[in-house]
Amino acid sequence: MIDLDQHRVKPGDRPDLSKIPTRQNAGLDSKADGEALLASNVERIDELQGRLWAEGRRSVLLVLQGMDTSGKDGTIRKVFTGVNPAAFEIHQFGVPGPHEIAQDYLWRAHARVPRRGRIGVFNRSHYEDVLVARVAKLVEKPVWKRRYEHINDFERMLHDEGTSVVKCFLHVSREEQFERLNARIDDPRKNWKLSPSDFTARADWPEYRDAYEDVLERCSTKQAPWYVVPADRKWVRNAIVSQLILATLEKLDPKYPEGVEDHEALRTFPRDHR
Ligand code: ADP
Repeated sequence: MIDLDQHRVKPGDRPDLSKIPTRQNAGLDSKADGEALLASNVERIDELQGRLWAEGRRSVLLVLQGMDTSGKDGTIRKVFTGVNPAAFEIHQFGVPGPHEIAQDYLWRAHARVPRRGRIGVFNRSHYEDVLVARVAKLVEKPVWKRRYEHINDFERMLHDEGTSVVKCFLHVSREEQFERLNARIDDPRKNWKLSPSDFTARADWPEYRDAYEDVLERCSTKQAPWYVVPADRKWVRNAIVSQLILATLEKLDPKYPEGVEDHEALRTFPRDHR
């Protein structure tokens, strides 16, 4: 049994990431147990997404952050494998392009918030503007420091307007990252995933840990909580994230709308045109 509360960062708490194990089973008995849970969660997510879509009033946004190789892409593929693509939106946030850099930093995130009735995923997000922007010194300290409050206000507004925001930090160890980067070097099918930024960010590991701890402390709110997801074991990571999406949808409990037509009249509609 996964206890999601154990992974949720309570508002104002500052988790010490060096003390939170990255390799743990999170209450699951075995890999088979985790995979069975994922499979059943995927089915339930599909069913509830159908109701969210039919209801058409609210949306769910999953924000995924983590160091390179933490498994953001793999999580998305495994957790959302069963959903209806028509009611699903995903956006990958990379280095801002010329149109993006010409706007405030939240502009591009806001534009990608899922429309009503959809589940959306941010693969990286507006949090890069207090992570890489801070660690790589793309902006001065007074600039990134005031952003936590902007972000909290932005997410509260989304919540008030009907978007449930949940945020996962995929927590991998530096050792596991080393293994995964090596696999990308050794396996020709994975070479394409390598980028020099993976190695510069790896060198700045302690600075990123600090920056993530600040994010978790300052931006885990009641309406948009952060979860620290142990991510060295992919099956544990997938089980937890799927459980969180399922719990979010269950809490929303979307309903099929009442039909607007007179069903009885439709039942007696002549059907002999066949
Ligand atoms: P990923 O590493 O997520 O698989 P990419 O290799 O395309 O995907 O990397 C995206 C890069 O874009 C990352 O290095 C990330 O730090 C960078 N990035 C994202 N948002 C910003 C931002 N707001 N400012 C600067 N760099 C950013």
